[in-house]
Amino acid sequence: MPNRTRPRPAAAAKPAVEPFVLNGLKVRAGERRTVDLPVTDLSTHTPMTMPVQVVHGRRPGPRLFVCAALHGDEIVGVEIIRRLLRLSALDRLAGTLVAVPIVNVFGFVALSRYLPDRRDLNRSFPGSARGSLAGRLANLFLSEIVAKATHGIDLHTGAVHRPNYPQIRVHFDDAEALRMAEAFGVPLVVNAGFRDGSLRLAAAERQVPVIVYEAGEALRFDEAAIRAGVRGIVQVMRTIGMLRGGKTKGRRLDPILARSSSWERAPISGILRAGVALGARVEAGDWLGVVSDPFGESDVDVQAREGGVIIGRTNLPVVHEGDALFHIVRVEGTQATAEALDAFEPELDYQQGLTSELSDEPPVV
Ligand SMILES: [Zn+2]
Repeated sequence: MPNRTRPRPAAAAKPAVEPFVLNGLKVRAGERRTVDLPVTDLSTHTPMTMPVQVVHGRRPGPRLFVCAALHGDEIVGVEIIRRLLRLSALDRLAGTLVAVPIVNVFGFVALSRYLPDRRDLNRSFPGSARGSLAGRLANLFLSEIVAKATHGIDLHTGAVHRPNYPQIRVHFDDAEALRMAEAFGVPLVVNAGFRDGSLRLAAAERQVPVIVYEAGEALRFDEAAIRAGVRGIVQVMRTIGMLRGGKTKGRRLDPILARSSSWERAPISGILRAGVALGARVEAGDWLGVVSDPFGESDVDVQAREGGVIIGRTNLPVVHEGDALFHIVRVEGTQATAEALDAFEPELDYQQGLTSELSDEPPVV
């Protein structure tokens, strides 16, 4: 028989988790709730809202926001968040997950990167309640989502016809964000300065570390980018103490930290025959492709001015002189780079199912 007279400090000391309040609605500990944040009315008189799902854990912990479609046509992150929210591990969450699958609700329904006022939402932070439509949306997101968070993950893709190899962008001077970036588990972490008007800068100014995940292209789904994204968020949540469990299965190496990148551009207008894939390692002087006229009478090679890894490229063969063709990130340590990329390759091949421990979702093909 246990000694009943002894006090049981563990039970007594358990802190009560306060409700999470969003738009005046209380989400109690252990609850999950969808909240429609009012944005404005459409010109049709129809109300427009930003849908948010809050998963408020029974145990105290960090408050992480995960958002997508800040650029309305970047839809890979929308699917990442849908899969994330279906994971049974969230039943045992410590802290709070605030999921915002579609931030730029206007651009999303219009299949556009921008807002109806033609502004780029990710250049409109911090915005203000009396500013432009973009500024008001930015202000709403800052005051309702970022201000209540301790950490953030912002999901993006490349532009239309311009896919990105899965990568994290982060400011290397932000130690907590860099810790999240390294936990995410994609092989390339790229140093990215703070761009004026970006969510990442506005959040950093409020002491909320945010990492940007870039993978895939606009208006397309990409199974590998989706799986690496779900897995990455789970690994960040484990690292900052929101989910239990160690690293996910599979060989995992430290990511390559890359400080700079540049684009190789079309030397002439014409038709591109690309010769290197996303994720390819290239040396300075390597042949990347060739641009020619439709008769095949003039061929101009595209070469890498510097070595590195192809982290973005065009999929559109029709090019004008100066168009961005291949985005090369400079990396040091050829051997370490090769190992990190090779270790990640099976994850890109979803049929090998390395990520299946997280989800039994059938792949999008
Ligand atoms: Zn974007």
